Amino acid sequence: MTAYRVCGRTLPDEGPIELWIVDGKISVEPVRNAQTLCENGWILPGLVDAHCHVGIRYGGGPEDLAGAIEQAKTERDVGALLLRDAGSPIDTRELDDYDDLPRIIRAGRHIATPKRYIRGLAVDIEDDSQLPEAVVQQARFGDGWVKLIGDWIDRSVGDLRPLWDEKILKTAIDAAHAEGARVTAHVFGEDALPGLISAGIDCIEHGTGLTDETIEMMVEHKTALVPTLVNIATFPDIAASASNYPVYARHMRDLHARVATTVGRAHDAGVKIYAGTDAGGSIRHGRIADEVQALTDVGLTPTEALGAASWTARSWLGWPGFEHGAPADLLVYSVDPRTGPDVLSAPDLVVLRGVPRPTGS
Ligand SMILES: [Zn+2]
Repeated sequence: MTAYRVCGRTLPDEGPIELWIVDGKISVEPVRNAQTLCENGWILPGLVDAHCHVGIRYGGGPEDLAGAIEQAKTERDVGALLLRDAGSPIDTRELDDYDDLPRIIRAGRHIATPKRYIRGLAVDIEDDSQLPEAVVQQARFGDGWVKLIGDWIDRSVGDLRPLWDEKILKTAIDAAHAEGARVTAHVFGEDALPGLISAGIDCIEHGTGLTDETIEMMVEHKTALVPTLVNIATFPDIAASASNYPVYARHMRDLHARVATTVGRAHDAGVKIYAGTDAGGSIRHGRIADEVQALTDVGLTPTEALGAASWTARSWLGWPGFEHGAPADLLVYSVDPRTGPDVLSAPDLVVLRGVPRPTGS
């Protein structure tokens, strides 16, 4: 197998780096007869989309396997080499057999109650008491994460409302932890947050309803946040299509209007924030660079925002960066990748499982 060498600078410290790639792994020791891929590039661990859906069709509904493969390729080509799949209605484990596709950390299927999520995507629980069992089942089906729907519109009241009772949440989250899995939840509004956070949930998706009080709870419980800002930008569209539910529509517009303050406050308070696009469904795949930009717009420094989609996110998900023996999933840029989304989404070279893949640029 050909060995390679890359040399240049890396982040967060802009320090010099020289790495060798052999047998799909990174070596910090020189490897003989290595072919030099770059002499003076910006070298980053592969990007992470910490919230996307491989297997949900753009426009809605389950995707077929060929479509899921195309989604994964789209992510790879913009440098997203590690995906945390936040719930998929189809079994995409076959994608793990393809060496040229990004690595996927799955959360199984979304867990909801009848009529309380997008139709056809979730496993529906008829009775709260079945939640712990459902969580264990999805923990065994996934790759270390379980995804709950924490709140959704309740059409009988015409507004967002929590799905679960606090007591059963604690039992369910404990059950997931006993299986070695972490739990996350979709939450748009305010009311579901205290119950989920105090029950020990590991992460909140969206989190637009965070208040100073629940931000403080997240800090105390070390709960992570994946705000999916490129998806929050669609809230006005969601509101516009919900004219039969004016309270809900107003609520969604209000959450949208203050999202920059909400996420900025969470960041200032010390909540760990990671980049996820929510691609699949209403967002196209391949948008991670836009999310990084959006995170800088709410107050993360460009280096923090990029880390939230690369080295920091990898470490949170249990994947190494540039240590000796780590999988060689990396990106090479000729220009500082913090320059902007056009640069970040077009690496000069993608190295996946040790194999260099020149990109369109
Ligand atoms: Zn999602």
